[in-house]
Amino acid sequence: AKTAIVIGSGIAGIAAAIRLAKRGYTVSVFEANNYPGGKLSEIRLGAYRFDAGPSLFTLPALVDELFELCGMNPADSFVYEQLDETCRYFFPDGTKLTAWADREKLKQEFLEKLTEPKENVEAALNQSQWLYSQLAPLFIEKSLHKPGTWLSTKAFAAYSRLHKFDFNRTMHEANSKRFENEKTTQLFNRYATYNGSDPYQTPATLNIIPHLEFGIGAYFPKGGMHSITQTLYELAEKVGVRFYFNTTVQKIVVHNGTAKGIDTHMGFHKADRIVCNMDMVAAYRTLLKDQHQPKKLLNQPKSSSALIFYWGIKKSFPQLGLHNIFFTSDYKREFEHIFDKGSLFKDPTVYVNITSVMNPSDAPSGCQNWFTMINVPNNQGQDWDYLIQYARKAIINKLSENLGTNIESFIEEESVLDPRLIELKTSSVAGALYGNSSNNKFAAFLRHPNFSSKIRHLYFCGGSVHPGGGIPLCLSSAKLVDELMNQ
Ligand code: FAD
Repeated sequence: AKTAIVIGSGIAGIAAAIRLAKRGYTVSVFEANNYPGGKLSEIRLGAYRFDAGPSLFTLPALVDELFELCGMNPADSFVYEQLDETCRYFFPDGTKLTAWADREKLKQEFLEKLTEPKENVEAALNQSQWLYSQLAPLFIEKSLHKPGTWLSTKAFAAYSRLHKFDFNRTMHEANSKRFENEKTTQLFNRYATYNGSDPYQTPATLNIIPHLEFGIGAYFPKGGMHSITQTLYELAEKVGVRFYFNTTVQKIVVHNGTAKGIDTHMGFHKADRIVCNMDMVAAYRTLLKDQHQPKKLLNQPKSSSALIFYWGIKKSFPQLGLHNIFFTSDYKREFEHIFDKGSLFKDPTVYVNITSVMNPSDAPSGCQNWFTMINVPNNQGQDWDYLIQYARKAIINKLSENLGTNIESFIEEESVLDPRLIELKTSSVAGALYGNSSNNKFAAFLRHPNFSSKIRHLYFCGGSVHPGGGIPLCLSSAKLVDELMNQ
């Protein structure tokens, strides 16, 4: 049988390994950490459990598909439920809004809380659905970098409608024009952060994102986000994939323009195909440092990063749901700080994710596990130790004011994740969550393809390459690698 090596066990690496094993390859995954999943992992503090990174689960069908591919019923191993509310929003003036999954209820909520006419919300969601129907088959489910994609009939149909894709104005321009209430605009602008971008710079094409949440739905996996990693890891082992943990790949060995294998501390490992799930920029800098460097791609600006406080809170707040957003009073200035100044705004938008709302065993009874996150610039050598203290104070003040109690007194467990640590734990350059940013209209075209055009038998998957970051796109990248390899 042919052999394949996967470098990294991020969600895309695991998915690629499963697909290749099903193709008949003998697959080995080499992982630097002593656990699988990369960003999609978990941590435990005292009696609390936290999902370490991603908290929002969309497009679960892409996970199901992997079980089906292996001849299994996904529901036997991987259980999830659709959320009836996607997020609770808290505005600085005291306005509260729940984003309901039910379309009618959602429109009613916008009308009652923000006097936003129902037809504006309806039109925004319809536009998002339309963008998805046009762009997903072309840009997400296909490799952008093979002529077949550009010459398909779907592509031709799409070119004729190019202006409707809203490339030529920013997300904020489109939203502020559509909505009457600034708060509705702010809420819809937030979707730019789902791939680490800035709504005041990113093209309105990214208004495709709300459809994932409102059209297809937001979900919660039983046991938390980490169960996505855990169940797929178990599935990979079941189909014969071998995992080598604590094993950093040091080099991709290339001979006569063909990838031949990898070097680790154990020596040389030969393989017929290599799939790199390591951050693409980091891979070129280290594993491929003697090879041709795609400079333009490597030098693209990176997406934002995150600062997270994992807090064990010895109190339960019934006004909070699974996903909660406490908005800043000045979104524009917050993004200027993140993307232009490379610093933190004094009044950040705070996201609090509480999985114990869904999964009570994640916290002791009467307590909650708060994953408290703000968007921050990627690491450019800022004084993070200082910024962590600065942010901690700002977050505690904001939440205390909103919740009417000093929350600091309820923190009984604490751990922090900052951009430096994200890079250390996953090799993501500058701690960027989603590889390159999408702050300009060509960003979709400036992602590295899922294969190397210079080195035969070398492929790429994961959040730093096409089609992009986030769990669904990472799973798509694994599928594209499998298709490209087996064309
Ligand atoms: P990664 O998770 O980046 O893992 C790469 C793996 O490769 C790591 O395990 C690393 O140790 C290993 N590796 C690297 N170099 C080597 C080497 N040389 N040798 C061996 N192993 C190596 N996405 C969502 O869909 N929803 C969300 O709500 C969401 N929120 C997020 C919040 C945070 C705080 C973060 C950090 C990310 C979030 N994301 C979210 C993004 C999502 O987590 C990522 O896009 C996705 O998990 C990346 O997967 P990946 O396959 O690219 O690999």
